Amino acid sequence: MKTVVITGAGGILCSTLAKALAAQGHKIALLDLKKEAADKVAQEINAEGGIAIGVEANVLKKESLEAAKKEVNSKLGPCDILVNGAGGNHPLGTTTNPHLLAEDLINAKEGFKTFFDLDAEGIQFVFNLNFIGTLLPTQVFAIDMVGRQGCSVLNISSMNAYTPLTKIPAYSGAKAAVSNFTQWLAVHFSKVGIRVNALAPGFFLTDQNRTLLTTENGELTARGNTIIEQTPMGRFGEPKDLISTTLFLCDDASSFVTGVVIPIDGGFSAFSGV
Ligand code: NAD
Repeated sequence: MKTVVITGAGGILCSTLAKALAAQGHKIALLDLKKEAADKVAQEINAEGGIAIGVEANVLKKESLEAAKKEVNSKLGPCDILVNGAGGNHPLGTTTNPHLLAEDLINAKEGFKTFFDLDAEGIQFVFNLNFIGTLLPTQVFAIDMVGRQGCSVLNISSMNAYTPLTKIPAYSGAKAAVSNFTQWLAVHFSKVGIRVNALAPGFFLTDQNRTLLTTENGELTARGNTIIEQTPMGRFGEPKDLISTTLFLCDDASSFVTGVVIPIDGGFSAFSGV
C-alpha cells in the first residue's frame, strides 16, 4: 500500500485516477485549490472502503504545499507517488481565431483577440499553472521518495506538447515544457530510484473545454468536428481511458520505465491528416 498525492484531484480526470488508485489499495491525498471538490472525492473513496483525505493546496505556492505535506505525512505517511494533475488553460492566453487575417487588424471588434492582443499576464498564468505547478509540488513531495523503493512522479502533459494546437499558444508551450521537464527530471532522479513519466491525453470532454467542443444541444462545434475528424478512433476520450496507463506507470511493473510521455489519444498524434 503506497501513499499517493494527487494535485488537481477535485477535477474530472484526476478524480477518476484517484478512485482507480484507491481501488488498488493505495492511500490517497487529494490536493486541490477547491477543498470542497477534493473532500467530495475523498468521501466517495472512503464510502467505497478506501482511504483518502482532501487537502487544500495551491500548486503555485510553496508554503501552501509545505502545509499540505505536513498534513499528508502525519495522516498517511511519506509520499510514494506524486501525480501532478493540476493544470489548464486561460482565455487571456487564447486567440479568437486559428489564423490571422489582414482584415482582423483593420476591422478590430471589441473582445476580438489576435496574437497582437494576447496579454502577457494571461500567458504567464498558464505557464505558471502548468509548469511551475508541476515543479513546485515535485520539489515539496519528491524529497520523501529519496532513499525509498518503488517511488515515482507522474505528470500530465497533452497532445499540444507535440504539435501546438491553434488558438492556445500559452497552453501548448506550457505543456511542451511539462514534457521536456519530465525527461529532464527522469534523468536527474535516476540515481536515487525515482521514476518520472507523463501522460499526454488527447481530447477529453471536460468542463474546461465543453463549450469549445459542443453546442448547448450537445452537437459538435466546428472545432469539435475537426478534432473528431483528426482522431482515427473517431471519438473523444473518456476519463476511464487514462486509468490503465496510470496504474502501469505508478506500479513496480514499470520499474525500468522512466522519462516517457505516453499519448492516450485515439491515434491523434499518429495521424498526419491525410
Ligand atoms: P479540471 O479543470 O477538471 O481539473 C483541474 C483541477 O485543478 C480543478 O479541480 C482545479 O480546482 C485544480 N486547480 C486549478 N488550479 C490549481 C492550483 N493553483 N492549485 C491546486 N489545484 C488547482 O481539468 P481536467 O480536464 O481534469 O485536467 C486535468 C489535467 O489534465 C490538467 O493538467 C489538464 O491540463 C490536463 N489535460 C486535460 C485534457 C482534457 O481534454 N481535459 C487534455 C490533456 C491534458
